[in-house]
Amino acid sequence: MEELSHWIDGKRVAGTSGRFADVFNPATGEVQARVPLASKDELDHAVARAAEAQRAWGATNPQKRARVMMAAVALINRDMDKLAEKLSSEHGKTFVDAKGDVQRGLEVIEFCIGAPHLLKGEFTDSAGPGIDMYSMRQPLGVVAGITPFNFPAMIPLWKMGPALACGNAMILKPSERDPSVPLMLAEIFKEAGLPDGVLQVVNGDKESVDAILDNETIQAVGFVGSTPIAHYIYSRGCAAGKRVQCFGGAKNHMIIMPDADMDQAADALVGAGYGAAGERCMAISVAVPVGDGTADALRERLVPKIEALKVGPYTAGDDVDYGPVVTAAAKENILRLVESGIEQGAELVVDGRDFKLQGYEDGFFVGPHLFDHVTPEMEIYRKEIFGPVLSMVRAASYEEAIGLAMDHEYGNGTAIFTRDGDAARDFANRINIGMVGINVPIPVPLAYHTFGGWKKSGFGDLNQHGPDAFKFYSRTKTVTSRWPSGIKQGAAFNFKAMD
Ligand code: NAD
Repeated sequence: MEELSHWIDGKRVAGTSGRFADVFNPATGEVQARVPLASKDELDHAVARAAEAQRAWGATNPQKRARVMMAAVALINRDMDKLAEKLSSEHGKTFVDAKGDVQRGLEVIEFCIGAPHLLKGEFTDSAGPGIDMYSMRQPLGVVAGITPFNFPAMIPLWKMGPALACGNAMILKPSERDPSVPLMLAEIFKEAGLPDGVLQVVNGDKESVDAILDNETIQAVGFVGSTPIAHYIYSRGCAAGKRVQCFGGAKNHMIIMPDADMDQAADALVGAGYGAAGERCMAISVAVPVGDGTADALRERLVPKIEALKVGPYTAGDDVDYGPVVTAAAKENILRLVESGIEQGAELVVDGRDFKLQGYEDGFFVGPHLFDHVTPEMEIYRKEIFGPVLSMVRAASYEEAIGLAMDHEYGNGTAIFTRDGDAARDFANRINIGMVGINVPIPVPLAYHTFGGWKKSGFGDLNQHGPDAFKFYSRTKTVTSRWPSGIKQGAAFNFKAMD
């Protein structure tokens, strides 16, 4: 069995805590590796070394830092298949989807090549007599990224790219479920010219996360994961005086208006609901057809598509629509929620509970499920299931449909399917959710826009990637200077407007 490591000072370093977590192949259920879980001492050591390395890196001009990003882009493209293969084997998602995971992270590194432009300050010439005023964006120092299992390439790259391009050193604490790809990415950045110590990958669990929160050298923490942990990290991190942004769970609604193209809507729902086994924070987990006629027409189209879904291991290539979920515990939780849906009176239209795959009986596969007549008080509606389970909530009107999405505690993504421009525009303007799709089921913004949810899906005031990420990972200093220095105005005792 492979024994994984940390990545400290530009090399793989074995863990010393004596604690490990199993890394599974979700398709077979076998343990394929074990990953060390860092102690507080290991974390503190990595931070101290990162702080030393950051001084020179932070003083390197932004163009040179951008060149490291440029080189990393080429190397990630070179290693795309290798990264995707490893990603699929630890996460379970299909090979094509794994490549998309790497690609969407890569696009943020491409955006970071613009660091010199993004870090440019502002300048006011002659703000007063002989006075110029300028602001500059400077790195924070050592920052941390804590990432979830479901995008083990994309989200670490969303954190690393902007943090490093801004001149910080980063402590990356990836998910202990699929830690290999972040380690491979660290090797790639070294090959791209990143100095040793500037990126430290510290594997671990709650103990290392708490050590991050307690470490006074760490200036900022960017987290992505479930809402309870997001809230915990946000509260503790802020209380410790750090800059913190935490992105949490989701329950994304797709509203289907009576005038929508039903075939298009059904295709969109199947892809967005069951792709990656529903383990996406932007997955659609609630379909809200407006009117019973719409619901019936949609259901008629959805059921055969869902029943035809091909579930299997990534090694089966194009024959598979989605793979296993990440762990046995995740599978158990999904099936428990399905039972609660039945008990609370929802109609289970497609039942995936007995799904078995010959030769992969120990894999963590979950068949597709579709519930109809789900109501807002049911647990399957309130909770994030994070599995291949789509709930249909029938709404009598557009107002009822938008009200459902607005009243839900999560606010990550949402979509409306309609041919009516008025309805689409009203929806986009009124909805209290961070990312909105109009006839687009998974509206993940591209790298040069920003990504972030509202309500319990996001804590903190800046989003991920795009210009916000450069603001989050840098701080503004404003300088007021007077030249020539010989101007004499006498002592000033009061605030007054600039002459
Ligand atoms: P998770 O919250 O279990 O873990 C996320 C990170 O927190 C991991 O690095 C993990 O080691 C750490 N962690 C876990 N328990 C902890 C604890 N008690 N104390 C401190 N740290 C702890 O999330 P996950 O299961 O890895 O990922 C799935 C979740 O992430 C879903 O809720 C999904 O919606 C969410 N997600 C959100 C976004 C977004 O942008 N909003 C994107 C992707 C995933």
